[in-house]
Formats: sequence, C-alpha cells, structure tokens
Amino acid sequence: MAYDFDLYVIGAGSGGVRSARFAAGFGAKVAVAESRYLGGTCVNVGCVPKKLLVYGAHFAEDFEQSAGFGWTLGEADFDWATLIANKDREINRLNGIYRNLLVNSGVTLHEGHAKLIDPHQVEINGQRYTAKHILIATGGWPQIPDIPGREHAISSNEAFFLKELPKRILVVGGGYIAVEFAGIFHGLGADTKLLYRGELFLRGFDGAVRKHLQEELTKRGLDLQFNADIERIEKQADGSLKVTLKDGRELATDCVFYATGRRPMLDNLGLENTGVKLDKRGFIEVDEQYQSAEPSILAIGDVIGRVQLTPVALAEGMAVARRLFKPEQYRPVDYNMIPTAVFSLPNIGTVGLTEEQAREAGHKVQIFESRFRPMKLTLTECQERTLMKLVVDADTDKVLGCHMVGPDAGEIVQGLAIALKAGATKRDFDETIGVHPTAAEEFVTMRTPVAG
Ligand code: FAD
Ligand code: NDP
Repeated sequence: MAYDFDLYVIGAGSGGVRSARFAAGFGAKVAVAESRYLGGTCVNVGCVPKKLLVYGAHFAEDFEQSAGFGWTLGEADFDWATLIANKDREINRLNGIYRNLLVNSGVTLHEGHAKLIDPHQVEINGQRYTAKHILIATGGWPQIPDIPGREHAISSNEAFFLKELPKRILVVGGGYIAVEFAGIFHGLGADTKLLYRGELFLRGFDGAVRKHLQEELTKRGLDLQFNADIERIEKQADGSLKVTLKDGRELATDCVFYATGRRPMLDNLGLENTGVKLDKRGFIEVDEQYQSAEPSILAIGDVIGRVQLTPVALAEGMAVARRLFKPEQYRPVDYNMIPTAVFSLPNIGTVGLTEEQAREAGHKVQIFESRFRPMKLTLTECQERTLMKLVVDADTDKVLGCHMVGPDAGEIVQGLAIALKAGATKRDFDETIGVHPTAAEEFVTMRTPVAG
C-alpha cells in the first residue's frame, strides 16, 4: 500500500524534532504535527526558560559577593517583567530556529492537534494522512493532586508567564522542578517556602548530596518544610491564599506552585483506535526498540516515562530514525551512566550510582568525599561549601558514581560522565593532572577514603 508518509511524528518537541529531521535526512518522507509550540516542553516551558531564570536569580549573590572584590554598587533593583519579556523574545527566536530546522531538512510541518484514526492514519485540522510508521512523541504535562482548591494553584507551565513576581510563594514537591524553582523565586526576592511530603527532598539522589543541599539552601534563608503536605487551598477576600496543611497548620501566601511530577500527554490522541497499550503508571508501553503493542506505532521521550530528560528524548528519537531508515547505523540507547544536573542554587551534578544504589547492588564500596569553601568566596562573607563525592568499587577500582553540589556542577559532571562511561578507575582519576586553580581538580585529588 502507498502511504502519504513513511513516518508521521506527533509532537515537535525534543524527541519528535530529532527523529523527524534525521529520518528525513536518511531519505524518508516525513511529516511532524505540533499543536502548541515548536521545540516542545524543553524550549518553551522547560530546560531553556528555566535556565534563563536561574541565571537571573544568580545575580542576587553575584551583586552581594562583588563587595569583597572591591565593587560598590547602587541599590540593586529587579524587574520581573523585563526578565520575562526578554525570555519570551529568546524563546520566539528559538521557535523560529526549530521551524527552519524542520523545513530545511525536508520535513512537512502540520500545525494543529493530531489524532490517531487507526494504526496507519492520523487526522489533523480536518485532513487525514496515512503513514507506514507513526511516532508518538507528545511529551508530558504537569500533574497536580486533586485537593480542594487546586484551581488556585499553578504549575511550571504558568510560572514562566506570571505577570508579577509573587511576594510570597509556596512551592510544593521535592523533585527537580520544585528545587529549581524554589531557588529561582528565592533568588529573585520572593519570600519562598518549599513544602515536601517526605523526610528529605530529591529522593533517588545520593544521601550526602540531599543533605548538603538542604544545609546550603537553609543557610541562604530558603524556608524548607519537610513532612509537610497541603490539605486545601482557599482564596481570601484580599486575593491572597490560605493554605491548610494536613497537620492542621495554616500558611498565608500569594501563590501556590505545584511541582509534583508529570503525566504522559495522551489527551484526545485517539489511542483507543489502535492497539497501543499503557503500562501500570499510564505511560505508553514500548519494547526496547520503542515499538508499542501496535506494530506500526512507536513512542519515545516523556510519553514513555523512562527517563524524562531532553538528551534522553534526543537519543531515543535518533535511535528510532536510524532503526527505521538507516539500520546499518542503529545503536540502542544506553541508559547507564546518564549524567544529570539539578539547577538549584547551588547546582547538583551527578552521574552513575549513588552510594546507596552501589551498596544495594552488592558492591563493596570505597567513598571519597571533599567539602570545601570555593576559592571565589574566600574574599566574601558567603559561607557556602561545595561537596564532591566519588563512589568507587573496592574490588575493581572502577568509579561507579560522581556527585557534586556546588557552582557549575552540571558543567563539571558532563566531562566526568565520559570518563565513567569509558570505565575509568579511581587510579585513572588519581593519575589525571588537575587544572589549577579550579574546583573541578578536587575530583582528581581525593586520596583518602572517608568510608569503606
Ligand atoms: P516534549 O518536549 O514535551 O514535546 C512534546 C510535544 O508534543 C509538545 O510540543 C506538545 O505540544 C506536542 N503535542 C502533544 N500532543 C500533541 C498532539 N496530539 N498533536 C500534536 N502535537 C502534540 N530536561 C533536561 O534534560 N534538562 C533540564 O534542565 C530540564 N528542565 C525542565 C524544566 C521543566 C520546568 C520541565 C517541565 C521539564 C524539564 N526537563 C528538563 C525535561 C524535558 O523538558 C523533557 O524531558 C523533554 O522536553 C521531553 O521531550 P519530548 O520530546 O518527550 O516531549
Ligand atoms: P519529579 O518526579 O522529579 O518529582 C516529583 C516530586 O513531587 C517528588 O518529590 C514527589 O515526592 C512529589 N510528589 C508526587 N506526588 C505528590 C503528591 N500527590 N503530593 C505531594 N507531593 C508529591 O517531578 P518534577 O515535576 O519535579 O519534574 C518532572 C521531571 O522533569 C523530572 O523527574 C525530570 O526528569 C524532568 N526535569 C529535569 C530537570 C533537569 O534535568 N534539571 C529539571 C526539571 C524537570 P516523592 O519523592 O515522595 O514521591
């Protein structure tokens, strides 16, 4: 049967664009549908605008610390509207770049909501198109628990477009988004509280990292409230919000921001017209080659709920394009040693196993740890400390994990990830000459284990 397209991609986000562009480059006839914004979550309401706001928040401490280096500044004043307008301009520019990338690589762009009609057919803007393969790359959407008053709460989607910086804000959650946005709002001057339902935030990260970040954020005056969960939110006559916690406490605030995870975006997608199945958590179930239970339909990125990170969606998109249209270049995605950063202030950077994971997996481990005051702060009043930690297999000497809390941790860990992926041992680290004076050199100068 002749199809309109070899590949029809639903969703022009990180994974969809990568897959569409490369498939077209390999000679396939490709269309991509996008209902909202080119570049998807990462470009529009995720990684990129978030990082711009983190940079914005960082200036608060730069101004403060500059006094130690002899600078005298006038009184610093921050204007939220300017930051948001400049951010929007940059995102518009990136949207244009994504449009050009797609069009110049020969991909047909359909702007509108795409719905599956059958295993080989998609409907968009009243038109139907057939395709040999359909790739679902529709990403995710913020999930707010169903509590009374949830309509008064915002998610990350709205946070990027607030008209004003709230004077007081409650950030709910203990994952990436909650920690990053608590840092942004606190840095920009809002009276910020972070509420997390468990004992300690960032579940799944190394214990020392979690504790260290808790200490550093507390030192900065961020109000961390653990073992705290919201029962209801009520709007007051003056427009403020009364928040009642499950333990009966009441808090007054101007904004409640939920960052409690993301669900797969499957709204009105027409999955019921196909044999696609969902897993227990509601994400699209795929095999190791991203094929769903319906052989002509594949899925990648956040909608399969494996690792919700842009570089992972990119790698999955590439793998699909290669497998379908350039099989001789196909390589499966390796989910081991995925480096990641939390852009809190200070940053977390991490790659490989945490100490807890290594012990649980049965490794006999040696732990190397260093805590120090960064050189840049020695002329300032700031008492922030950096943490660096290596988890080493005592039998093989292989470095199993690297963890850091401190300035530029994400930048530093990217390089270390290559070493770990190449199987570096602690001896390789020890024999590597440091770059002096940097914070990163500490990773190659830790000699004495703190725990075994
Ligand atoms: P998406 O990028 O979400 O793209 C899906 C696209 O599909 C969207 O554009 C959507 O409009 C479109 N779509 C959905 N349904 C349809 C339909 N029926 N028809 C047509 N189009 C449709 N990751 C990092 O690696 N680093 C970070 O610093 C980082 N920061 C983040 C910060 C925030 C606040 C958030 C929310 C996420 C962040 N992420 C980060 C995660 C990252 O954004 C996602 O993992 C990534 O965007 C997933 O890519 P994707 O292609 O699966 O989906
Ligand atoms: P996460 O899954 O990272 O964290 C969700 C948090 O919300 C957890 O602390 C969880 O607690 C808590 N939670 C879940 N349900 C409830 C509930 N009903 N009531 C109260 N608390 C709840 O999700 P995020 O929304 O922070 O981010 C989504 C994903 O986006 C991330 O996992 C990450 O993959 C990606 N991302 C990556 C970034 C980066 O690379 N820098 C930045 C931002 C996002 P508990 O731990 O107890 O389950």
